[in-house]
Amino acid sequence: MADYFPEYSAWLSQFELLKECCDIPGTVTFCQEHPGTVNNRKHNLQGNCFLHQIAFWGVSQDIVEQFMHLGSDPTLRNYNNDTPMDMATREGHANTAQAFREVFGEPQACDQQKADFLTAAKTGDFVKCFDLLRAHPWLRNVQSYKGWSVLHQAAYHGVSSRLLTRLLDLGVSEDLKTVEGATFLDILQEHHPNHGFLANSESPSASRLGVGSPVMLKGGGRGVLSSVSDHFVQVQLQSGEVVDCLRWQVCRVPASMQDDADDLIGMHCLSCWSGIPPTWTVGADCQGEPHGLCAECRNAWMWSQYNACNVPLRCTECDSICSTDHLRTLITRGTLRSWEEQKDMFHTSMSYEEFLQALDNRLAEMGDIETRVSLIRELINNHETTPEPIMYCDVEGAPAFRVCRRCASVIEYESQCKHMTCRCGYSFCWLCTREEDEHQDGDWCYTRPCEIAPRESEEVIRHILHNPR
Ligand SMILES: [Zn+2]
Ligand SMILES: [Zn+2]
Ligand SMILES: [Zn+2]
Ligand SMILES: [Zn+2]
Repeated sequence: MADYFPEYSAWLSQFELLKECCDIPGTVTFCQEHPGTVNNRKHNLQGNCFLHQIAFWGVSQDIVEQFMHLGSDPTLRNYNNDTPMDMATREGHANTAQAFREVFGEPQACDQQKADFLTAAKTGDFVKCFDLLRAHPWLRNVQSYKGWSVLHQAAYHGVSSRLLTRLLDLGVSEDLKTVEGATFLDILQEHHPNHGFLANSESPSASRLGVGSPVMLKGGGRGVLSSVSDHFVQVQLQSGEVVDCLRWQVCRVPASMQDDADDLIGMHCLSCWSGIPPTWTVGADCQGEPHGLCAECRNAWMWSQYNACNVPLRCTECDSICSTDHLRTLITRGTLRSWEEQKDMFHTSMSYEEFLQALDNRLAEMGDIETRVSLIRELINNHETTPEPIMYCDVEGAPAFRVCRRCASVIEYESQCKHMTCRCGYSFCWLCTREEDEHQDGDWCYTRPCEIAPRESEEVIRHILHNPR
């Protein structure tokens, strides 16, 4: 297990210093220098992490905030099933527990954000991942129970080099490994051996955003980075003025655009943050601050939504509908070229036009309940059971896929325990598929095993579709 955690022996020495000598400043410095270790645990996945240990000591809110900016995951539970916040409470540090609440929000909300983030990454919806990352920067190094980070999923889905770079720029660690020991580069090599990112021999960290990098700011303006920390940067604007901003609010200027005027750029891609023309909105009627997607990110997003049967496509920012009519107005040579380059990674031979047609067909199919029933059955029959026992209650053999009883979405198991919340907000038990108040005598508790309900039959699916809640 020690191999699983990046730089484990160096980390362990620092952990002991924190544990024995309350070395908090040294721990902050250590995390800044070894960002991949921030969520390492002692011994195994049930061990304490740095956050548990600082909660044990009791600290002020600004320390908790520093760890949040370093990408600490507040949802990790130790062998006692304690989160860091539980640890603070158990040790009698009510102020520290309150500080966790102030900085990270309510524990259930954190669990939910993490589950949403991992699910979005798994289904290739990186637009949603970036939305969540902007709102909750601590999510950047979270890993699924199989050890997959957002970067692993991005590599698996074969996203553009630009998007991989953007994730690294936001501080996602390249050192995280799956439980099988694979880094994101291993995943990229395995699934997309011809990916351009691999051809670039520079190591990812060498091409990181740093002092001197030319950047664009959210809302317009160019400058050069004059300092960089985990969460904040300082930018010296072309006018000479120096401004502070959050790290995600700047992005590097792609070489191809270094000579373009700002008004040509118009706005930023919601996903990789490259500059795009102002007409490239997600839907035809997007509302609010201008937002859109570049051709590559749009293709990848459409493909993920199509496969998850999330039609009609809806903008993740403003919920406006993205129709195929609108998509046809956005076809450029670049769109088609990106599609041709990406479709190998999507494992499809459809041309772009055929794909738009397939989107329309799927929309029509989804209107017909019997077609939906068989589509859903097909999706949930693909896989057998969860590859690992459900954590904490240790139950093996549950189906890897479930159908949401409220919105009929197909959900793949991607949680830390038996509790699961669908993207529609419906929360249920993965084992028995019942809601919290349908459990008796504390059986809802994540450590209690429940009987495994059978895979949803056609009758059950039909019933859900006929009775939307
Ligand atoms: Zn993009
Ligand atoms: Zn929108
Ligand atoms: Zn649902
Ligand atoms: Zn249950």
